Amino acid sequence: AWSNVPQGPPLTAPGITEAFKADSNSEKINLGVGAYRDDKGKPFVLPSVKQAEKKIVDSALDKEYAGITGVPAFTKAALLLAYGPDSAPIKEDRVAITQTISGTGALRVGGAFLERHYPGAKAIYIPTPSWANHNAVFKDCGLKVEKYRYYNKDTIGLDFDGMVADIKSMPKGSIVLLHACAHNPTGVDPTEEQWKQIAEAVKEGDHFPFFDMAYQGFASGDTNKDAFALRYFISQGLKPVLAQSFAKNMGLYGERVGAFSIVCESAEEKKRVDSQVKILVRPLYSNPPIHGARIASEILNDPALNKQWLGEVKDMADRIITMRALLKENLEKLESKHDWSHITSQIGMFAYTGLKPEQMEVLAKEHSVYATKDGRISVAGITSGNVKRLAEAIYKVTG
Ligand code: PMP
Repeated sequence: AWSNVPQGPPLTAPGITEAFKADSNSEKINLGVGAYRDDKGKPFVLPSVKQAEKKIVDSALDKEYAGITGVPAFTKAALLLAYGPDSAPIKEDRVAITQTISGTGALRVGGAFLERHYPGAKAIYIPTPSWANHNAVFKDCGLKVEKYRYYNKDTIGLDFDGMVADIKSMPKGSIVLLHACAHNPTGVDPTEEQWKQIAEAVKEGDHFPFFDMAYQGFASGDTNKDAFALRYFISQGLKPVLAQSFAKNMGLYGERVGAFSIVCESAEEKKRVDSQVKILVRPLYSNPPIHGARIASEILNDPALNKQWLGEVKDMADRIITMRALLKENLEKLESKHDWSHITSQIGMFAYTGLKPEQMEVLAKEHSVYATKDGRISVAGITSGNVKRLAEAIYKVTG
């Protein structure tokens, strides 16, 4: 039956992990992974997660199904984390939410909901560049995927004018996908002042904002600060939808904990929307897994654990910020003739170095430093032990 099925292309950063594994250099560095590493370069399970897990195991809960929209104690707390304790839509009980299979599942349920219910032309605009999966997810939802300008390779920063101009010239009522914080892959975020103008442009065009928040807390170390854009848009009367992931900020990658929420006009509208979310989710996977949601729920709802977790998120963000500073400092010590200020002005797990594909190739072949060809490095893969050698390698490749 499958003789006509063509071989598909590899979906993950081709060959990086394989090439890294095959390299016998004991000082090899892998900057291709999109997951946090500690200062020894090892995967990190948050102590708050371990404690929450122990509490869950000790309480000997059963393994019955969750409802279609997931574990209520989790989704309720996820809403508060994203929208804030003073959020008007939450107080007025007009936000529909469903637990999802991490952030990807949230984007997918969201795309499917918009495809089915959002009135008018079903095009979603994503930034250039964007997380590689956005295009595929929304295309598979049956939406038309369009692009807006975002990154300026000459300044290695935000093409703010291009972005606003593109938002203004989209057909009225377009869906605009916005990275809430820590833009992947560039690490380039709008300032709060720029977000205000972006909100204005979205409002002006009567557009529909779709926030992807995969890194809340991970960017600045402060979950409230990282939610600025989302909350500001709401304060301006916009009613966005939101995809949340707990993969990065709780280190729950493989547990697949996320949520999709929809800000509605009224409690009555929320009830109708919620019924349609259920109708959509039920034939997809019936109901989401419970273990990861219980962990996140403990962390969000237990005041002591919550405080501890916020500290741990900040520690992860701070380690990344420190590694950025150290990398820049080491490059400057080598008297590199390039300006590396973008390394520290960018935010979140990734840095867009501005290195060309040929230079990335030399980094791998001659210096055993592995990352994607677009020049993106995972700052989480930098440690106090490898940063000096990394800077030397980058210096040798760029001069
Ligand atoms: N959105 C963005 C921008 C991301 O970078 C990621 C993770 N790489 C996700 C969504 C979703 O990740 P997950 O499904 O693991 O939550």
